[in-house]
Amino acid sequence: MTERVYNFYAGPATLPLPVLEQAQEEFLNYKGTGMSILEISHRSKDFEEVIFETEALMKELLGIGDEFEVLFLQGGASTQFFMVPMNFLTEENTADYILTGSWSEKALKEAEMMGKVHVAGSTKEDNYKYIPSMDQITLSENPVYVHITSNNTIFGTQWQQFPDFGDVPIVADMSSDMLSRPFDVSKFGLIYAGAQKNLGPSGVTVVLIRQDFLKKANDSLPTMLKYSTHVKKKSLYNTPPSFNIYIVNLVLKWIKSNGGLTAIERINKEKAGYIYEVIDNSGGFYRGHARKDSRSLMNVTFTMANADLEKTFVTEAAAKGLIGLKGHRSVGGLRASIYNAMPVEGCKALAEFMKEFQRKNG
Ligand SMILES: *Cc1c(COP(=O)(O)O)cnc(C)c1O
Repeated sequence: MTERVYNFYAGPATLPLPVLEQAQEEFLNYKGTGMSILEISHRSKDFEEVIFETEALMKELLGIGDEFEVLFLQGGASTQFFMVPMNFLTEENTADYILTGSWSEKALKEAEMMGKVHVAGSTKEDNYKYIPSMDQITLSENPVYVHITSNNTIFGTQWQQFPDFGDVPIVADMSSDMLSRPFDVSKFGLIYAGAQKNLGPSGVTVVLIRQDFLKKANDSLPTMLKYSTHVKKKSLYNTPPSFNIYIVNLVLKWIKSNGGLTAIERINKEKAGYIYEVIDNSGGFYRGHARKDSRSLMNVTFTMANADLEKTFVTEAAAKGLIGLKGHRSVGGLRASIYNAMPVEGCKALAEFMKEFQRKNG
């Protein structure tokens, strides 16, 4: 393969080409230092510039100020599954969880080990085909937070509008749709996202914490597991994943240069639209997994009449440079992950391939 392919893998996922090119260009000699960014001290001025600028860019793109802290941690979103309840659950309180897929189930499982939890809503009975409506959600009496998964990477559903629980802060796993659209960040007490879908490479997890929520955090925990440690030390308590943060920095600059979140959302809608349109006009040849009102703009999931046909689809698509379309093993079928960095042309190419495949096999 001499050309780059269209990479539809769910994560680690495709990165913007200009980001990879810039990283390549600067790789051996970062800004005239004579060293790679990989070789620079995390205490150096050069690296501090990178990490603090990344934090500022994140705030700028989300339209938030000092009421939030932006952290760069390790351990993936999966570490946040237990770090959140560890920091915020006490003997007395309860945390509410809304289940919309496998990742929310995993988050709940970890929280159950830390304290009292309440499942405030779930669409598991319907194979997580949709996001529950407000009348399907019942909160416990006074939850310390309500946990949601904004985009369900495996099932291909996404909260179209975030719920409002008044004074109860929302904690959200936004691993697979962070910075894919503008939203009102003020309702959230904490947001976390493994970077490898929409923000950069694997190995760094972005965490946003609202200051008033942080005040409620438990302080008698191991140093590395306390949010307050990382807030006080600005994510530099120990050696952070410096190269990963540098790539996130370039990705955020790329988003900004593309017009920010409003522009990105418009492009994401256009991209997903090409694929959903083919599914909807296929007369049942392609069957979308998600209910229409809950469709994800990031992960398009669908099945076909049988597994053999799906296998042929994946093989023939790969031969055309459309890679990574096999669905997650828990849902089966096919999945096209089309995060921010997937170009419009990639989605158009997939839509054309789907139409052609149906003509030949329908
Ligand atoms: C991929 C993913 C995770 C797991 O992230 P890790 O960084 O691998 O721990 C969690 N939640 C969602 C929504 C995901 O898409």
